[in-house]
Amino acid sequence: MPMKSKKIKKRIYIILLIASISMLVALAATGIALYLNRFTHFYRWLLLAIVTVMVMLIVILGLGIAATVLTLWHVKSFFGLQRLIDFSINLLFPLTLALGRLFHIPKDIIKSSYIEVNNNLVKSKNYKVNPEEVLLLAPHCLQRWDCPHKITANVSNCRRCGRCDIDKLIGVAEAKGVRLAIATGGTLARKIVMEFRPKAIVAIACERDLSEGILDTNPIPVLGILNIRPEGPCINTRVDIKKVEEALDFFLDYDLTMATVKKGS
Ligand code: SF4
Repeated sequence: MPMKSKKIKKRIYIILLIASISMLVALAATGIALYLNRFTHFYRWLLLAIVTVMVMLIVILGLGIAATVLTLWHVKSFFGLQRLIDFSINLLFPLTLALGRLFHIPKDIIKSSYIEVNNNLVKSKNYKVNPEEVLLLAPHCLQRWDCPHKITANVSNCRRCGRCDIDKLIGVAEAKGVRLAIATGGTLARKIVMEFRPKAIVAIACERDLSEGILDTNPIPVLGILNIRPEGPCINTRVDIKKVEEALDFFLDYDLTMATVKKGS
């Protein structure tokens, strides 16, 4: 069974972000040219207002993208500009998908690249969170399709027979002391996040659900792990458990955990 997921380059998403900004610049330049050449006498002031807003937006987005690129290249971490980085990346996301369609880049490749960019940005910071504040969110399709036990309502209904990766995920969640939840889709995942209000999330899903989940849960930091689909989408999917452990370890504050354990003992 192939357990390796394809390595997706974050470069694809960065190029699309820059292309999106360039497109906005070209549009603003066209607007300025029309205004200066008095091409249209009608709605001149409206045109000026639109161009002004566009230029302001381009400056803000440009700063956000520059901060993103410099952070990803390990030149500098812009902790103070995190909101700006998130705003720029999230606002341009639909535009990057539209541009990708224009250049015949498959949606899943763009979304994988976006997830890779997001993960690298999260990892550029130093989160130290208590285990009970970390949510491990997994999709229902990891469960064997013929398993009779309903684990979405309560994951402890799993009998831990080892036929699917739910068994290993429960083991990891127990070992790390984090909460594990299984979602049947984006709506339930959002509901779980709203109820649990985690400070950090490790999410396993396909490209579509992960990218939408990362956008929806912003500003909560999410490390996304793509599921593996040896039998096609949405059935008997798998996950690289090592990646899950590494992602959880990134968020967990072991010093704090040990202090809590000692205090309790
Ligand atoms: S480990 Fe076994 S009991 Fe648990 S969800 Fe998978 S198939 Fe069902």
